[in-house]
Amino acid sequence: MNRREFLITSAAVGLAAPAHAAQGREELPFRQVHLDFHTSELIGDVGADFDAGEFAATLKAARVNSINVFAKCHHGYAYYDTKLAARHPALKVDMLGQMIEACHANGIHVLYYYSLVWDVLASRRHPEWLATTREHQRIGGPPTDAWPWLCMNTPYLDQVAAENEELVAKYKVDGAWFDILKQNSDGCFCQWCVADRAKLNLKDDPASIKIHNKLVAKRVEERLNSVVHKRFPAGLTFYNSRLVVGVRDELDYYSHIEIESLPTGGWGYTHFQQRVRYMRTLGKDMVGMTGRFHKSWGDFGGLKNQAALDFECLNFVLRGRSTPPARPPG
Ligand SMILES: [Zn+2]
Repeated sequence: MNRREFLITSAAVGLAAPAHAAQGREELPFRQVHLDFHTSELIGDVGADFDAGEFAATLKAARVNSINVFAKCHHGYAYYDTKLAARHPALKVDMLGQMIEACHANGIHVLYYYSLVWDVLASRRHPEWLATTREHQRIGGPPTDAWPWLCMNTPYLDQVAAENEELVAKYKVDGAWFDILKQNSDGCFCQWCVADRAKLNLKDDPASIKIHNKLVAKRVEERLNSVVHKRFPAGLTFYNSRLVVGVRDELDYYSHIEIESLPTGGWGYTHFQQRVRYMRTLGKDMVGMTGRFHKSWGDFGGLKNQAALDFECLNFVLRGRSTPPARPPG
């Protein structure tokens, strides 16, 4: 059996009886790329040589039939024509609009990427929206070199919802990919969270913090899902960074699950293999995301060789088959 035959055989095994069949949904596209472009305002030529036709043709030649493309990145910049959001200062074209149009013309499914908790620009414009620890410290941002964490329980959520309403009103998409729905497990002590817990008669002990964190996360998911589904009832929705212990009662907000397994940055080579075994019990179809950073990333740029990539891709296929939930959500 050669490599190609092995891959085809494995794919047939992995796709038997997927969860979407039971849920009456369309099958997820098989081959997806997640573009990851977080671009600061210091980059002066964003999209200068962009050619949508060449972009879509490259994807098509690689047999890609789904892609996550950037609407808003961790720096807080938008890559589309917008009346509400902060368009990247160097961008001269409607990059998102052109990518969507060219991909759809080639039968490629498009989800837009939108960064939630990490937004450098919003953290500068509204430091009061930053997530705050019990000791009144901000999380991430200067003087550290970590991304600043915004609290989704502040008026930032109104800004996020409005920007997403504009996005789905303007562009025909197949879904939304929301990144970084993270929370401080010890709670947020910004003015909105403190007032919210007082109103709800919740204290600051670990059990109450856990209840409040869950409430805040579900509010975000409920609100953004309704924005997307009002326009696109069958639109896919996924919240990255939120797949934590106790997430089962939020899974109605997830059309599917995506798992990252990049070689460095905390994931490691064994991340996917252990994580997929937990996630496959949640009753959702899964997308596996392997990858390799460019060597120009220096120490952060772990590289995977062909054998490692083959191994991970086969794991996606073999383990991606969902099994029914071990217990009902909730
Ligand atoms: Zn807060």
